Amino acid sequence: MVELRNVSVTYSNGTDALNDVSLKINDGEFAFIVGASGAGKSTLIKLMLNEIKPNSGRINVNGFNLNKLKKSRAHRLRRTIGFVFQDFKLIENMNVYDNVAFVLRCIDAPGKYIKERVPGVLDLVGLADKAECKPSELSGGEQQRVAIARAIVNDPKLIIADEPTGNLDRGYKKEIVELLKAINSFGTTVLMVTHEQDIVREYGGRLITLQDGRIVFDGPLKPRSIKE
Ligand code: ADP
Repeated sequence: MVELRNVSVTYSNGTDALNDVSLKINDGEFAFIVGASGAGKSTLIKLMLNEIKPNSGRINVNGFNLNKLKKSRAHRLRRTIGFVFQDFKLIENMNVYDNVAFVLRCIDAPGKYIKERVPGVLDLVGLADKAECKPSELSGGEQQRVAIARAIVNDPKLIIADEPTGNLDRGYKKEIVELLKAINSFGTTVLMVTHEQDIVREYGGRLITLQDGRIVFDGPLKPRSIKE
C-alpha cells in the first residue's frame, strides 16, 4: 500500500514541486499517474522510493514509514518495489537471462532458486526463447519486456513504471500495458506514470492527474469503447 497524507515538497531553490498531496493506493490496484512536464510526477516517484524526503506530510509505502526510514534500512523498502524505466536500462553486454538473474544474484539468492525463477519469469513476459540474446538483438518492446521481467523477478509488492511506453511504437505500447495489467492481475500493485492520454483512455481504470504539484483528479475512468 502507498499512502501520502498532506505531502509537500519544496526544492532548495524554492520550487514547490508538490503541494499538499494526499493519495492512497491499496494493494493490488492499478493506477495511471498523468500530468504535464513539471507537474510533479518524478518528485512523487522519488518520494515513494525514499530518494527524497517531504518538507511536510506523512508517507507510508509497503508498510514502511518513510518519514522515519533510516538510510541503512532503505534497501529493505527498495526490495519491495520493482522499477521500470522509459529507456529500459538493460546491461548491454549481458544476455537476457543474466540481466534478469543479476537482480537475484545481487541479493545473494540461492543458485537453485535463480535457475528456477528466471526461466519462469522470462516465460511470463513471453521471452523464454530469447534468453541467450543480447539487448541489442531485441526490439524495443522486447527490451522493455526484459526490463519488466527484471522488475518482477524479486516478487515485489509494487511496480512503478515511469513512462514505460515512451520509447516504443504503437503496437509495442499496447503489449507493454497489457503485460503490466497481467502482472497486476496476479496481485502486484502497479503504478504507471505516463503522459500518453491515448493509452489511459484506451484502458481506463484509476487515473490520478497531477497539475502544478497538486492532484486535480483521482478517480475511475471508463475505457474507451472499441467502436469509437
Ligand atoms: P514531472 O516529473 O511531472 O515532469 P518533476 O517532479 O520533475 O515533474 O518537477 C516538478 C517541479 O519541480 C518542476 O517545476 C521542476 O522544475 C522542479 N524540480 C524538479 N526537480 C528539481 C530539483 N532537483 N531542484 C529544483 N527543482 C526541481
